[in-house]
Amino acid sequence: MTKWVYTFGDGQAEGSAGDRNLLGGKGANLAEMSNLDLPVPPGMTITTEVCGWYYDNGRSFPAELADQVSAALEHIGKLTGRTFGDTERPLLLSVRSGGRASMPGMMDTVLNLGLNDHSVLAMARDAGDERFAYDSYRRFIQMYSDVVMGLDHGVFEEILDDEKARFGHELDTDLSADEWKQVIARYKQTVEEELDEPFPQDPVKQLWGAIGAVFSSWMNARAVTYRQLHNIPAEWGTAVNVQAMVFGNLGDTSATGVAFTRNPSTGENKLYGEFLVNAQGEDVVAGIRTPQNITEEARLEAASDRPSLEKLMPDAFGEFNNICQRLENHYRDMQDLEFTIERGKLWMLQTRSGKRTAKAALKIAVELAEAGVITKEEAVRRVDPASLDQLLHPTIDPHAVRDVIGAGLPASPGAATGEIVFTSEEAVAMAEAGLKVILVRVETSPEDIHGMHAAEGILTTRGGMTSHAAVVARGMGTPCVSGAGSLRVDMRSETLLTVAGPLKKGDIITVDGSTGQVLKGAVAMLQPELSGDFGQIMEWADAARRMKIRTNAETPADARAARSFGAEGIGLCRTEHMFFEGDRIIAMREMILADNEKGRRSALEKLLPMQRSDFTELFEIMKGTPVTIRLLDPPLHEFLPKSEEEITEVATAMDVSIDQMRERTEALHEFNPMLGHRGCRLAISYPEIAEMQARAIFEAAIEAGRSSGEHVVPEIMVPLVGLMEELRFVKARIDAVAAEVMGEAGQKIEYLVGTMIELPRAAIRAHRIAEEAEFFSFGTNDLTQTTFGISRDDAAGFLTTYQQKGIIEQDPFVSIDIDGVGELIEIATQKGRATRPHIKLGICGEHGGDPQSIRFCEKTGLDYVSCSPFRVPIARLAAAQAALEK
Ligand code: PEP
Ligand code: MG
Repeated sequence: MTKWVYTFGDGQAEGSAGDRNLLGGKGANLAEMSNLDLPVPPGMTITTEVCGWYYDNGRSFPAELADQVSAALEHIGKLTGRTFGDTERPLLLSVRSGGRASMPGMMDTVLNLGLNDHSVLAMARDAGDERFAYDSYRRFIQMYSDVVMGLDHGVFEEILDDEKARFGHELDTDLSADEWKQVIARYKQTVEEELDEPFPQDPVKQLWGAIGAVFSSWMNARAVTYRQLHNIPAEWGTAVNVQAMVFGNLGDTSATGVAFTRNPSTGENKLYGEFLVNAQGEDVVAGIRTPQNITEEARLEAASDRPSLEKLMPDAFGEFNNICQRLENHYRDMQDLEFTIERGKLWMLQTRSGKRTAKAALKIAVELAEAGVITKEEAVRRVDPASLDQLLHPTIDPHAVRDVIGAGLPASPGAATGEIVFTSEEAVAMAEAGLKVILVRVETSPEDIHGMHAAEGILTTRGGMTSHAAVVARGMGTPCVSGAGSLRVDMRSETLLTVAGPLKKGDIITVDGSTGQVLKGAVAMLQPELSGDFGQIMEWADAARRMKIRTNAETPADARAARSFGAEGIGLCRTEHMFFEGDRIIAMREMILADNEKGRRSALEKLLPMQRSDFTELFEIMKGTPVTIRLLDPPLHEFLPKSEEEITEVATAMDVSIDQMRERTEALHEFNPMLGHRGCRLAISYPEIAEMQARAIFEAAIEAGRSSGEHVVPEIMVPLVGLMEELRFVKARIDAVAAEVMGEAGQKIEYLVGTMIELPRAAIRAHRIAEEAEFFSFGTNDLTQTTFGISRDDAAGFLTTYQQKGIIEQDPFVSIDIDGVGELIEIATQKGRATRPHIKLGICGEHGGDPQSIRFCEKTGLDYVSCSPFRVPIARLAAAQAALEK
């Protein structure tokens, strides 16, 4: 018989930390903490396999589940001395989700389950506090009706506001037990009216309703979006954790809180966290009351006048502090913990590896490795390559004038400037229109995920460092200031009220997520410094990696930036990008629009010196590292004059009539320029273009070799080759020019000629192409486009729909389609090497900067990946991790 339910508590458990796939992260760690004999309220985990079963069988449960749950409830009852459904000593439960990967706040939770009109009396008697019992009961009705029965919580808030007004109270805490009873009566009546069924009094019915709701919440819109953003497969499913309730809201000796064993923002090795006295778990994260510091040191730093846990409850604090250290040593990583203190007794509710900023991730990994807790290789594997992007965010120039209009908590580092928007929908719409926005909210909720993603920065006026906005922004690497209490959001008039006066939607502000300041207008920014822990991890990564990392760059600025990020060469210099500036574009248009060789040659004459000096500079900057220069590959329409003004300009330069120019432009019009007269096809029609570029490259190599003293070996790359004969034709021209230039200079030049593999035919015929090519560079942008037959320029719209409908998991233009495009790359690799065993192999499509694609490149045995300059550090780390995985 399948075991669907695993119990834990009282120093033992049926599972352990290793059972994460089966029990989910939360369940596995609760089991582990029990095994470590830490104080964990006893409970059970219903496995992720039940979730799979549930969806495979029309949202029903396996037959044996009910008995296994009953048996587990009995076990929990024994450990707590209580009975589920009893009216004398009732066992009350929390029911929570818990998937394999943590999805904070994404799924639903029910607390105080088991309360009804009878057990609430026992609870009041037990606690010696009637008010507390009825407050818990009404919370339960609210939560359960919302999460399980689907009745919007707004309904209850309205009733509560109504009743508070009737009783003349302002705060929830002002209500007496009798007043709560009247609220509860109205709640129950409303449930019955709205849903045509009474609020369930039977605890067993309550429990199964809640279990079903947690499993159902796996497919709610928030969870689906979160999984998409974090590449979590839907098949993983969630587990359900059912646990004896402990109460942090039993008066002033009770409390609840969350903590990290190190600072999750900076990585500093100090216990860091927040708590609330007399509160229930959700209150801390919800950001409704502003929490207190756990340690005295943090309280002093924050200049808070409310006592720390360390001072307020020294015994519980001491025990908690010890447990934190034990858990960090046990898991060998920074932990994120939840705890509750019930009348002075500490209970651990959760531990997991804590989410952290990239900066903190680096610091923690380096410190743990230096302390010998983990190896250098583990340290390298601990840092998420994509997260390094956060460190590449600008910060505010310390010399800049700051017009501070408000301040909150430094919730997620980096600074961002943008236009104010007040809703997530606006954030998305404006970002899609190419605007930079700052999402300003009182507080955020999981419904805001899409808006938070679209925004450059996030500002909330309420909530602590562990509020939803803070946690999610840190995960995304989006700068965030939370709890800026001096600012006020007036949603009705769409205004942000500040000391400097009101700001409207569209006004520009800057948020500094590193200091918590909110500034008016845009501010000068500094690019980040990549030394310290970053440099250390990079050094360890470089020692572990096999593949070289090059960059895609054509401007001197990009090449320099890439060098400073550690690029070991240029993998793709797109020469067509070098012709957009100043009068170059006119010369370029002249060349394209010339209707005879003479006209083309005269335009090329003008372009030659420009190209030569461009290449000389690139070679000098790259200091003898390999530089791959690609011959012209423009879809021609990008260069054709469009406006009347442009047509006139070119006509004048070429001394032809405007009508003639218009005719020529029309003649060059292509229906499908991406599949048109581009790449090597251009060089075959007009060899003089390739000849000019080859000459510029060779002359520049000689010049840069002389000026820099470096040995420059240019790699000339022919684009969009499908036939070996195409490459042979162009290569013959390049070789001829090389011979000419060598003759003129009286000097030998070493160079390589190779090709891009960006058409399926080229991949399939790679053994023939390798007869001519000394290197292959996989152009996976075009290879994806042509393998799928999907236009790169038009794909975004419908590929998003594909993702939403589950047809594809990831955009193949972002992360390599390993099954299709990947197989073509493997075929080309094998066939290329069969002909030319030492052929150099690299990739230069956008995928060269994507960690998953880099892992594929390592597996395939490519020699290098090439990516945009700002992705070079990501690629260095991802390549190291891929090598370590082998
Ligand atoms: C490619 O096709 O992958 C490539 C790098 O070339 P481009 O993006 O310039 O077409
Ligand atoms: Mg291409």
